Amino acid sequence: MTETKTLRLPVQLPRGFDECERCAGRLTDSLLQLDGVRAVHVDFQHSTMTLTYDPTLSPIDEVEQRAEQVGIEIRERFEHKTIVLVGLDCPDCALKLEKGISRIPGVLWVSTNFASSRMSVEYEPARVDLDTIIRRIRSLGYDARETQVVPLTPSITFSSLGAPSTLTLVSGITLLIACALAASRMPSPAHVLFLISAVAGGFYAARGAYFSLKSLMLDMNFLMTVAAVGAIAIGDYFEAAAVMFLFSLGNMLEARTVEKARESVSSLMGQFPTQARVKREGGEELIPADEVHVGDLFIVRPGEKIATDGTVSDGSTAVNESSITGESTPADKVAGDQVFAGSINLNGSIDVVATTGAADNTLARIVCLVEKAQAEKAPVQRFTEVFGRYYTPAVVVLAVVVALVPPMLFHAAFRSSLYIALTLLVVSCPCALVISTPVSIVSAIGNAARNGILFKGGSFVETAGKVRVIAFDKTGTITTGRADISDVLCGDGMNESDVLSLAATVESRSEHPLAEAIMRAARKREIKPRSITYFQSLTGMGAAAKFDGETCVVGNSRLMDQLGMDTGKWSGELQRLQEEGKTAVLVASGRTIVGIIAVRDTVRETAKSALDQLRKLGVERTVMITGDNELAARSVACDLGIDEYYAELLPQDKVDIIRVLIERFGSVAVVGDGVNDAPALAAATVGIAMGAAGSDTALETADIALMSDDLGKLPYALRLSRGAMGIIHQNLVFSLAVIAVLILTALMGILKLTVGVFGHEGSALLVIANGMRLIRFK
Ligand code: ADP
Ligand code: MG
Repeated sequence: MTETKTLRLPVQLPRGFDECERCAGRLTDSLLQLDGVRAVHVDFQHSTMTLTYDPTLSPIDEVEQRAEQVGIEIRERFEHKTIVLVGLDCPDCALKLEKGISRIPGVLWVSTNFASSRMSVEYEPARVDLDTIIRRIRSLGYDARETQVVPLTPSITFSSLGAPSTLTLVSGITLLIACALAASRMPSPAHVLFLISAVAGGFYAARGAYFSLKSLMLDMNFLMTVAAVGAIAIGDYFEAAAVMFLFSLGNMLEARTVEKARESVSSLMGQFPTQARVKREGGEELIPADEVHVGDLFIVRPGEKIATDGTVSDGSTAVNESSITGESTPADKVAGDQVFAGSINLNGSIDVVATTGAADNTLARIVCLVEKAQAEKAPVQRFTEVFGRYYTPAVVVLAVVVALVPPMLFHAAFRSSLYIALTLLVVSCPCALVISTPVSIVSAIGNAARNGILFKGGSFVETAGKVRVIAFDKTGTITTGRADISDVLCGDGMNESDVLSLAATVESRSEHPLAEAIMRAARKREIKPRSITYFQSLTGMGAAAKFDGETCVVGNSRLMDQLGMDTGKWSGELQRLQEEGKTAVLVASGRTIVGIIAVRDTVRETAKSALDQLRKLGVERTVMITGDNELAARSVACDLGIDEYYAELLPQDKVDIIRVLIERFGSVAVVGDGVNDAPALAAATVGIAMGAAGSDTALETADIALMSDDLGKLPYALRLSRGAMGIIHQNLVFSLAVIAVLILTALMGILKLTVGVFGHEGSALLVIANGMRLIRFK
């Protein structure tokens, strides 16, 4: 099933864009690469972009993000909201709701997930607002509210659980008494009690059936209610009561267990700090954590939670950052280091300057991303939904035929034909099938989040599980890039401190890992960066800055060549340093090169074992792509047994190589630091960013973000994805088998209604329980 939408979007094009055919080509290319984007046309005269795409494959905000990466801003923004649904009572109701909302004009895309009780919706604010959408949800029999950015209290749980469980209990007890009466040959009072039991158990089903009828969309509530009424009509009071009781019991248990899967997110929310000790004139003041503003100075005592993201300004300590990174080994923090909301200060007292407020700190963003991810669907799930879309109506039609045709044409007994038809209705909802995938995906995403791995959507759980080829960035990914500086060479009239001072000033604005190494070396020698008037990052080559009336550049020899600087005098030294396996950068002031700084870039401790594990997991090919020089690349690749490597690449070259790899192998994961690898991550089948806790760009651009710098999380993410796909397949096979058995036995006339409901609800519960094993996956 594909659906396409065509949109005309007003866009802001970068200046000079209309004359640059290549730029326009780059935009169209990059958008066409997104799954589901079928056609793109940019109209320069009117500054619009016409886009034909499949919203189920690429939500509009993904398209927007991609456009922004190539410099195009979509002016009229579409809203993307995640809404918490209240009172969702069955898997197929979630789909019914989805259909109902998608019919509202102005709604571009909507996805509901029973397992997370979330709805993701994209709409044009000019045509429809959130209130209208929520009102429609209410008219369909459910309730909804917007997700809060900082959920200080755990999110509302299945709110209507209280009443249904009481009614289920009443239904069960009356059913038991009625059975006892029936056994002791007191049919009349038994019938009355059976009816009471059916009404109690069926109250919510009937209510759902009413909304289902009103919106002309069949759902399980409707079908079960018809089956129960039918059973009463043919005088089968016991069956009516049992059907309704089992159905309400099943629904209740399903909701309860699924709620457990959602708890994996609430457990993240439980990490939210509540208070902050802010330093104000005249002393400390204890204020709620969400009132801390950027720039506030707050104190964190041992044992306390850090209120929001910030930079340590004084003191030193060790903190437990497991709520963010999933890593329980304490991380040491000294002045200048970054700390994150929700981490626990273990021993020393520290002063922290807040760099974010409560709403946009790392923890809040993780929760938002997990919520959004859990509301989205994996491609396998679409199969089950499409199956359900045709299966249910087909069985209902079959039921009508079975009820009417044999009695009319072959004089069969109407009562037994009707009974068979009713059993068909009871098994006509592939509920187990529909829930099989989302419950597994939600559990897997929750498990991952607790381990410092963020999947941006269910589809990445699926793709990550299938990855056979992984390409790694070198600096900052396989190597730390932050190791100590080994050599500083200086030109005439300069000393080491001069060179470091120039370099540190340029790098003070850079996010590159090498910049950090240089900054640290400067700090050690108490060299302070000067203030800059202009800065530019020359991605994949270096960086430049203007200060004290002079332009300074730090970067590799390719950059210096491009700038027309004479590197001749330094090439011998450069060669020597590179042969020693070091990463060397040149420092230029004005038009002359004044020195070289070399870093002995060390391979991450976890790299070797991570690569071994990946091979054991069946990753056939490992590739390294780097902007660094050939010699450095070769030595790292040989050390680690990497199959292929490509060196001296610019970011665009990395993209080209990824494309070739995708052509060769079908799907390729790229692992990078996300800072200067964004284009390569975007070109990959799955883009995985490391060290995302400290970098907004990494968190935004990756499909999967590893919060910590630990490469060991990568095999875990892959194993988890495989595990999830395995369980999903088990669930699919099992639920399809149950459907086949139920339908066949129903048609043969040997299925009791009660057994049908039991099989239906039981299989859904089993599938949910199986999916939830992923919460405890290790
Ligand atoms: P990798 O692909 O291995 O991660 P990058 O593409 O980040 O490498 O960088 C490639 C090369 O460009 C580095 O080895 C370094 O020589 C140079 N470079 C990039 N950014 C900087 C910077 N901020 N300062 C100095 N050199 C840089
Ligand atoms: Mg890098």
